[in-house]
Order: sequence, then C-alpha cells, then structure tokens
Amino acid sequence: MKVAQEILNLVPYKPGKPIGETQREYGLTKVYKLASNENPIGPSPKAIAAMTEALSSLHLYPDPACYDLTKELSKQWQIEPSWLTFGNGSNELIDLLIRIYCQPGDHILTTQAAFIAYQICAQAARVRTEHVPLKSNYQMDLKAISEKLKKSSCPLVFIPNPNNPTGTYVGQKEVEDFLSEHGNREDVLIIFDEAYNEFVRASDYTSALPYVTKYSNVCVMRTFSKVYGLAGMRIGVLIARPEVNDLVNRVRNPFNVNTLAQVAALATLQDKEYLKRSSEVVWQGLDYFYEQLKLLKLDYVPSQANFVFFDLKQPAQKIYQKLLERGVIMRPVANYGFPNHMRLSVGLMSENQVAMASLSEALKE
Ligand SMILES: *Cc1c(COP(=O)(O)O)cnc(C)c1O
Repeated sequence: MKVAQEILNLVPYKPGKPIGETQREYGLTKVYKLASNENPIGPSPKAIAAMTEALSSLHLYPDPACYDLTKELSKQWQIEPSWLTFGNGSNELIDLLIRIYCQPGDHILTTQAAFIAYQICAQAARVRTEHVPLKSNYQMDLKAISEKLKKSSCPLVFIPNPNNPTGTYVGQKEVEDFLSEHGNREDVLIIFDEAYNEFVRASDYTSALPYVTKYSNVCVMRTFSKVYGLAGMRIGVLIARPEVNDLVNRVRNPFNVNTLAQVAALATLQDKEYLKRSSEVVWQGLDYFYEQLKLLKLDYVPSQANFVFFDLKQPAQKIYQKLLERGVIMRPVANYGFPNHMRLSVGLMSENQVAMASLSEALKE
C-alpha cells in the first residue's frame, strides 16, 4: 500500500512516562509523576458524583450537542451557544481545524517551541508548520509572526497563550497590536490556545475571548484537562463564530464527547471552590519551585502555567534517568529543541518537595 511520506515521517506524540511503567521498570512502589501538567488535587468531588450517577445510563449514546454543558458555559462566559463547540480534548479541535481549513501543501504558522500537537496534526494532514523564532528569554515574538503574516498568507495561526513547554505568554498590548493588523482578514484564522488561562498571574495578560466577537477571524480554545482536573475524560471547547463551528460540526464525529466527560465538565464548572483551590495549589507550588531552583542555581523561566521550564546546563536525559531511579518523573523537552531543559509540573506540596530533594541529589551524584 502507498502511504504518504508525511505519514511515514510522523513521530508519535511522546507523553509523560506512565506511573505503572516506571514502577515496573525500576521496581518502585511509590512514583511521583510531575510530567504531564495534570491537576494534582484529583477531579472535583462534584464531578466524581455526577459521573457515578451517569454510569447507569451508559447504554445510551451521549448527547451529540452537549446541550446542558453548552448552556452552562454560555451563561458563565456570556457567549451565545452557537459560538461553542466541544471536542475530545482540545487536541481533537486542533486536528479538526487543520482538516477543515488546510489543503495538503499549505502551511500553518506558530511560534518556535509551540505545543507540539499543532505540528503533529498538521503533518498528518500533509501540512507544514512554520515556526517563528523566540525572542531572548524564551518569549514568543508576536511582532515577528505579524511581520511574516504581512508578507504572506496561511490558513491558520496558532498562538498558545500561555505556551507549553516554556510557560511564557504574550501580553495584552502585543495581542492588540497583532489583531489591529490582522483581525478581520479573510485569508487567515487566528487561534489562541488558552489551556492555562486560569493559572496566569501576569497583570498584562489578556484572554482573547473578547476578540472572538470583535474580529471575524479569531477563535479561542480552552480545555478541561488542566484547572478543571479532567485530563482523563478528554474534553475541550472551541469558542468561535457560528460559521466556523458549523464547519467543525460537519466534520467531527457525532459522539466525540462522551457522556461522562459532559457531566463531569458541567459539575466542575459549578464547583467554584474546587477551581479556586486548583489555581492556588499551582501558585504555591510554582513559588516553591522558584525558591528551590534558585538555591540549586538553576535558571528557570517564570511561568504563567502549572509547570516550570528550567535549564539544567547539562543534558537533561541523564538527570531524567537519575530522577526515575528515585521515583520522580519529570519531562525532558529535547523534542522541542531544548536538550538541556526540563519541564516540571506542579504537584501537591509533598510531591513538590520530593521532586526538589531528588533533583538536588541527582545533580550531586
Ligand atoms: C495541555 C494542553 C492542551 C490540552 O489538550 P487536551 O487535548 O485538551 O488535553 C492544549 N494546549 C496546550 C498548549 C496544552 O499544553
């Protein structure tokens, strides 16, 4: 059978090393996984209760329109229901947008070190990814992306704000300058991926949500995998004008978001206490990491997300192995072009302490 070269060249997404696998390989009972930016406090108890209750109706297909969830989110975010579409994680939404808007041979535009899912989904659709270099300090260069777009066109621009794995962001002024230049263009759709929106503490950050109604070519993606603590349920949402959502609804699988994901997301949206705690745990954890990394004399990048990206000044793979032996899973980021950096997700404070103590030992060994 003939298979396209782009498919043959695909390298599968490399997730954080699973806990079970690490236990088996290293003969460990206790393993700390701080490698996948998951919510360390577990799902909301309200989500668990809602899912438990929904178990007895699992012989039925899910609601293809996510009616209740759409209604609640529409109310909370003050957005018309027709502007919301849910996906099997935001990853599916990325895939759908590329399939809808790109032709084989096209390219998408994003920043260097962008979340790698854009490139993987693009390549699967025989679409190239152009990466615009970062500024110093790992900051995204929205101005350079803008200059590039002035000279050329491409169907999709992905702006991860904040970005993974660097944890950096672009501020309100940069976003507004960018949109005053490219907002309302008919040849470019601009997608802000705001998976970490709720963790941002920078005062000059803005979500792009208000620009979705202001400009005809702006969309926002959010996920239930991070602050909402539902990574295992696979659910994300696209906020876009109805014309865009209409296309997504034609292409997506009818039952792409399962019943448990829908009820869990709805229950978590209503659990304000849980959401508040989720962010607070992350902020305390980050501050602790900063303090400890300073003591270890390691340079880190201040993060607006639920992880920190830091420079080991030596190949990260070696330290990664030594950490695994100690039952701590972190995330090397050589696949993003940073062989000496590590990404560490915030866990519970007890887990953060083990992670830092193990890192300190691994560096001395
Ligand atoms: C974690 C993450 C997502 C979420 O992906 P899901 O498929 O919804 O789990 C999206 N974008 C970025 C940049 C992320 O880091």
